[in-house]
Amino acid sequence: MSSPSQNTKSSLVHVFLVSFHGQGNVNPFLRLAKRLASKGMLVTFCAPELVGKEMRAVNMNLIIDQPTPYGDGMIRFEFFEDGSSDQSIIEDFDLRMQMLEQTGRRNLTKILKKQDDEGRPVSCIVHNPFFPWVCEISESLGIPNALLWIQSCACFSIYYHYNFNLVPFPSELEPEKDVILPSMPVLKHDDLPTFLLKSSGFELVLKRIMLNQFNNLSKPFCVLVDSFQELEHEVVRHMSKICPIRTIGPLLFNDPEIVSHIRGDCTNIEEDCIEWLDSRPTSSVVYISFGSVAVPDQEQTDEIAFGLLNSGISFLWVMKPTPGYSVFQPVVLPDGFLSKVDGRGKIVKWCPQEQVLSHPSTAFFLTHCGWNSSMEAISSGVPIIAYPQWGDQATNAKYLVDVFKMGIRLSKDENGSKIIRREEIEKCLREATSDDSKVAEMIENARKWKKQAEEAVAERGSSAINIQAFVDELKNIHAKKQQENA
Ligand code: UDP
Repeated sequence: MSSPSQNTKSSLVHVFLVSFHGQGNVNPFLRLAKRLASKGMLVTFCAPELVGKEMRAVNMNLIIDQPTPYGDGMIRFEFFEDGSSDQSIIEDFDLRMQMLEQTGRRNLTKILKKQDDEGRPVSCIVHNPFFPWVCEISESLGIPNALLWIQSCACFSIYYHYNFNLVPFPSELEPEKDVILPSMPVLKHDDLPTFLLKSSGFELVLKRIMLNQFNNLSKPFCVLVDSFQELEHEVVRHMSKICPIRTIGPLLFNDPEIVSHIRGDCTNIEEDCIEWLDSRPTSSVVYISFGSVAVPDQEQTDEIAFGLLNSGISFLWVMKPTPGYSVFQPVVLPDGFLSKVDGRGKIVKWCPQEQVLSHPSTAFFLTHCGWNSSMEAISSGVPIIAYPQWGDQATNAKYLVDVFKMGIRLSKDENGSKIIRREEIEKCLREATSDDSKVAEMIENARKWKKQAEEAVAERGSSAINIQAFVDELKNIHAKKQQENA
């Protein structure tokens, strides 16, 4: 096999990935970039300039447009101007998305055309569901395109059935209607992605964009899903009959033989959290994170803090800084909290979550159930305490708790308040760290999923077969193009 440096740029198949912003998008795209590069492709990771700024600030010299060898292939980075420098426009989410599309269409098209001039024509564009218009650019340039679906296959099915009006969903007349979908458990209205229930705000904007992707579903030649067949067997089987679905997850497993420092963090990691975990007993720490976007409000933050304090349990809690453009308000810890915790808990702004989850001291994960966090918990065999916030997280929580049976869920007050009270948080933390037989079963199930996840990506595993089929298809497209140009 030839080494990447022996390959000329144009002899490698060039796959061009276009990620939306937010760590929950950047991570699976970068993971796919690595997977494809390790198989001998030249991969460009592309995203709006806002992401570029954040990634370059944290990852220093690694985020460059020159191809960097990775496995048998190479990775390079390129970002498109997104108009984000106008702060007054950024505050209006709908306008920001419209501007992103307008400037994105123009600038991304230029960047894609430039690839030909620079001797690395693109064989395939892989894009994000929040960029449905990228399908149209691909089509206009005659470049085949694929969608990387970064939520569960169950959510894909929900959006699909909703968009094409195939089954009844909650409505103004029946807001609490149960939803019955093929090959899925009955979903209560609050198990659905919140986008589908909201009639205003940024979630309505995201719903419109997401559903646009479903209207454009005939354009991608396949839909890659960061999940695995064994995890969502029935719904994958059902949706595969309707769409060219290919489960290729968990994407986070990298080839252990490839040593690379390329990371996609958009926030600086606090290095000492792993050292701190090293100092804690095995299976003693609850890891708490609500992902890269959601920030529970001040009242909820106080309740979590007192729940933790009263439980007496060790914890590592990520409290990320809120960027200026966030729709969430910054929060602070209650006065004197850290001194009362007295070393048994640690607060960090950002951590290497994959490492934290695979650390022997980590017992449970109190999570917002973002799909990346869910797949990372599954891949590390760590049971969860579900505290979904918005978007697909409610559906993921339903699956993690009731279908995968690897966790418990924080319950709201009976008085209808949205706030989870400190007593409930303390109760769940104590339950999760007890030797109750139900907890033992959850731990066992989490370990079982970890094993199945490993098998899916191992040689001849379901995801490994699917990714190889995708790579082979890209090679065919590339060979055909070269013949046409010869
Ligand atoms: N993450 C991380 N460090 C942290 C918190 C989160 O690396 O301190 C990563 C996490 O591993 C996951 C991503 O951020 O890959 C969050 O994605 P997810 O889909 O779970 O949630 P979102 O941020 O989209 O709500």
